[in-house]
Amino acid sequence: MMAKETPSTAWELAKAIVWAQRSKLAAGLALLFVDRAAGFVVPIAPKVLLDEVVGKQRADLLPWLAAAVVVASLVQALALFGLQRILGLSAELVVLGWRRRIMARITRMPAAHLDGTQSGALLSRIMDDAAAMQNLVGAQLARWTSNILTALGAFVALLWIDWKMTLLALAFAALPGLGLDLAHRKLRPLFRERGELRAEVAGRLAQTLSGIRVVKAYGAERREQLVFTRGLHRLFRVMSRTTNRRGTMGAVAAVVSAGVIAIVVVMGGRAILAGTMSLGDFGSYVAFALMFAAPLLDLPEIATRVTETLADLDRVRAVEAVIPEDEGDDAREPLGAIRGEIAFEDVSFAYRPGSPVLRGVSFHAKAGTTTAIVGPSGAGKSTMFALLMAFYRPSRGRLTIDGRDLASVKLRDWRKRLAVVLQDDFLFDGTMAENIALPRPNATREEIERAASAAHCDEIVSALPDGLDTIVGERGLKLSGGQRQRVAIARAILADAPVLLFDEATSSLDSESESAVHDAMKRLALARTVFVIAHRLSTIRGADQILVLDRGELVECGTHDELLQRSGRYRALHEAQFGAVHAGGDGHGAAIEPEVASR
Ligand code: ATP
Repeated sequence: MMAKETPSTAWELAKAIVWAQRSKLAAGLALLFVDRAAGFVVPIAPKVLLDEVVGKQRADLLPWLAAAVVVASLVQALALFGLQRILGLSAELVVLGWRRRIMARITRMPAAHLDGTQSGALLSRIMDDAAAMQNLVGAQLARWTSNILTALGAFVALLWIDWKMTLLALAFAALPGLGLDLAHRKLRPLFRERGELRAEVAGRLAQTLSGIRVVKAYGAERREQLVFTRGLHRLFRVMSRTTNRRGTMGAVAAVVSAGVIAIVVVMGGRAILAGTMSLGDFGSYVAFALMFAAPLLDLPEIATRVTETLADLDRVRAVEAVIPEDEGDDAREPLGAIRGEIAFEDVSFAYRPGSPVLRGVSFHAKAGTTTAIVGPSGAGKSTMFALLMAFYRPSRGRLTIDGRDLASVKLRDWRKRLAVVLQDDFLFDGTMAENIALPRPNATREEIERAASAAHCDEIVSALPDGLDTIVGERGLKLSGGQRQRVAIARAILADAPVLLFDEATSSLDSESESAVHDAMKRLALARTVFVIAHRLSTIRGADQILVLDRGELVECGTHDELLQRSGRYRALHEAQFGAVHAGGDGHGAAIEPEVASR
C-alpha cells in the first residue's frame, strides 16, 4: 500500500496514498479529460449559433449543432459514470484497507499505550479518520481535479478570446486567493482540535454506555448528560470558529467571482460596441467565464476538505508512530515446544518511574506444577500476571521460560503457549461455541463439546435455548459470574496450552458452582504449569508452592504446611481470611469452607 516507515508529515502520507493509487487515478484522469473536453462543446455552441447560424443565415447547421451538444453530453455522462465506478470503488477499497491497517496497528499497541487511551478515541481513529482517505483518492479528488482542469481550460479559452480583459479579471481574483491560503493555514489546527475533541466526547460516551448499570445505580444519568453536553458545547465552539472562517472564505469567493463577471460585462460590452468583439465571441466568453468562476466558488470547500484530511492523516500518523509490542519479533528466536519451567529472576517493575509495583521478585516454578499467588489487595498479583503475559517487560531482572529469557523469544510464540482464565472473563457477542473456540477458531464441534463438558458447562449449555449455538455476551443471553468462569475454563481447555494463568473469582460462587469450577480447574491443571491468583483455601492448599506477595515484595514462599509452620506473613493472612489455625498447624482452616478445608 505504501512505504513501511511512517511518513514524517501528513503531506507525505497523503502523497504516498495518492501514489499507491496512481494507475486508477490515471485512468480516472483520462476519463476526466474526455469529460472536460466534451464539456467545452456547450460553451462554444452560442458562438456557432450567433456567428454562423444567425450571422451567416446557415439554418442547415442547426441539426448538427444540436447533435454535437447531445453527443457531447452523452460522452460526458458515460465518462462521469466510468469515473465514479473506477475512483468511487477504489476509494472505498482504500478506506477498507486503511481501516484494517489502523485496527491492526491498534490491536498490536503495547498494553501500556492502550491503558492511557480511551477506546472511543481509538474507534474514531479506525472509522472516521480512515474515511478521510476517500478525499484523496475518491470522486472528491476527481471533482477537484476536474475543477482545476476546467478552470485551466476555460482560462486558456478566455485568453484566446480576449487576453486583456482576462488578465484584468485574473488580477482582481488573485488577491483574495492569497488571503484564502492564509486562512487555511489557520484552519488546520482548528480541524485537528475538532477531531481530538470529537474522539474525546465519543470516548466518554462509550464509557457511559458500557458502564450504564453503575451510572443508573448511582443515579448519575444527569451528571453524565451534563458531561456529554459540556463536551458537545466545546465541540460546538470549535465548529463555530471553523464555520465562521469557512463562511467568510465562501463569501469572499462569491464576491470575487461577481466582480469578475462585472469586469467582463463592462469590458465586453465596450468591445462589442466598439466592434472589436463579435456577439458570438462575447457569448462564449461569458460561458467560459462562468466555467472559470464556478471552480473558484468551490475553492474554499476544496481547501477545507484538504485541511480536514491532513488533520485526519496527522492522527493516523500518530497511531502508526506507536511501536507495536511485537516489533522485532522476526529477529527473536522461535519458542518451539516447551516443558513449561518458569522463573522470575530478581524482577522489578514500575508502571510509572519512581513507584515500583514489584521489587526484586525471584522464584522458580517447575514444569507441571501449580503456583498459588496470595497477598493483600494491591500487592502486585495481577501485575505479575501482566508480566507473565508479556504485556509489560520488567524494568529490572528477567523472566525465563525453560531457562530462556522471555524477552529473547517471539512474543507471538509465547502467547500461543498461554491459556488464561481471568476474573470476570470476557464473553464476545457470538454463540457459546464461538466463545469457547476463541483460542482455536478451527476446532471441531466435537472438540468444543468435549471442552465444554470437561469444564462442567453441560448443565449451562442444556439450559440455554439453542444449546452451544445460543448467542451470549453483548447482544445475547447474559451468564452469571460462575457460569462465565466455566466458559473461560472450557476456552482454556480447548487452547490446550502448557502454561495456564488463572485468576480465581473473589466473589463467592454457590457451593455447587464452586465445586464444579474447582473440579474443572483440577483437570485443567494436570500436566500444566499453572499460576493462580488464589482466594480459596482449597486452591491454595492444593498448590505445589505458594508465593506470598506484600507491597510488591515476595515475602514468603513454600507449601501450605511449611508456611503455616513458619508463623509468618502467610499464617497471619490465612488466619485473617480463613480463621484461626488449629494447634499443630496442619492448615485446616475453620469456618468459611469447612467442607473444602477438611478434605
Ligand atoms: P488485587 O488483589 O486488588 O487485584 P493485586 O495484588 O492484583 O491487587 P495489582 O493489580 O498488581 O495488585 O496492582 C499493584 C499496584 O499497581 C497497585 O498499586 C495499582 O494501583 C498499580 N497498577 C495496577 N495496574 C496499573 C496500571 N495499568 N497502571 C498504573 N498502575 C497500575
